[in-house]
This record gives sequence, C-alpha cells and structure tokens, in this order.
Amino acid sequence: MRNIILFGAPGAGKGTQSAIIREKFDFAYISTGEILRNEIKNGTELGKKAEEIINRGELVSDDIIVGMIKSFISANNNKDLLLDGFPRTVKQAEALDEILNSLQRGEAKVVELEVNKNVLMQRLLKRAEIEGRKDDNEQTIRERFNQYDAKTAAVAEYYKKKGGYISIDGEHGTPQEISVKLIEVLEKL
Ligand code: AMP
Repeated sequence: MRNIILFGAPGAGKGTQSAIIREKFDFAYISTGEILRNEIKNGTELGKKAEEIINRGELVSDDIIVGMIKSFISANNNKDLLLDGFPRTVKQAEALDEILNSLQRGEAKVVELEVNKNVLMQRLLKRAEIEGRKDDNEQTIRERFNQYDAKTAAVAEYYKKKGGYISIDGEHGTPQEISVKLIEVLEKL
C-alpha cells in the first residue's frame, strides 16, 4: 500500500493538486485542514477548540491531529493513502511512522511542491477573495508562514534524512502542467 504525503507551505497547491490527481488514482484522501473546517462549520467540540487556533494561524495540537489520522488510516487500511496537510511537525511524522509500522503498510513517501514565499503570499491573498477562508488574511498568513518555518520545514528534513523525499517545482506552469509532473513522480513511487 502506498502512503503518499503531499507536502508544501500554505498556498503551495496541495489541495488543488490533490483534487487533480485523485481523478487519476484511487487514493483514500485526507486533508486535516478540511476536516477541521468541517468540524468548525458543524459546531462540534473539536471545532470550537480548533477555530481560534486556526484563525490565529497556529497549529492544532499533535494529539488531536494524530488521533484523527489514526482512525482514518485504520478505516482505510486496504487502500493507498494521500495525506494533505499532515504531518506538520516532526512529532506527527514520528507518530505516522508508528501507525504505518503497526499496520505493516510500509514507509511514507513525501512529495513536496516547492514555491517561492512571495508567490505563496500572492496566491493566498487571491484565494482569500475567491474562497473567503478566514485564515487567508495577511496577518494570519504571516503567522502560518512562521509556524511553517518553525515547525513544519523540519518535517521535510526528517524525510530527507530517512529517505522517501522528492520535490517538484510547484511554482511555474498552470495547475494542470504541475499535475503532469506530479503524476509522473507518483507513477514511479
Ligand atoms: P490547511 O487547510 O492544511 O492549510 O490547514 C488549515 C489550518 O488547520 C492550519 O493552519 C492549522 O491551524 C490547522 N491544521 C491543519 N492540519 C494540521 C496539522 N497536521 N497539524 C496541526 N494543525 C493543522
């Protein structure tokens, strides 16, 4: 079973690319951010806890996120996995390794979409106009970048050391053109 992590900074195109590649491959797909936004919309306890954190641009606790991922993977253990927005800390990456190990699913493979920070900011501000996500305002975006630099960038380093890391240019070209490169990589993983 394949365990693919689609990795990248906020605005790198993880959601957009996930949607395109899911038309081609039969992945069990989870976006932790999307799940949290649904919890907020439905006014659940978890949603109430997560809302302020997300609107500040900070990260939800590792325990909550790992719990979500654990149940998702266990429920989809017969399928290839596509993880979007997880892991975002080295702790989450280590927890993922343990889960995959205990289910004998093999190693995770990371594909990073690399995009320059200035381009990311422009994309996120544009998305704010279209989708109206509450955390797509300049102040929160800056904090999300800070969190990425402080906690999430280390996840790429973790997989570079461990093996199973590959990056592609997520900046130049249309989403369709970028997806062609991504699909090429996924076909070999
Ligand atoms: P995203 O849709 O992936 O950009 O996620 C939106 C927000 O949800 C993030 O800024 C975090 O506050 C929270 N979130 C999503 N995934 C995680 C995660 N793996 N760990 C911690 N917080 C997360």
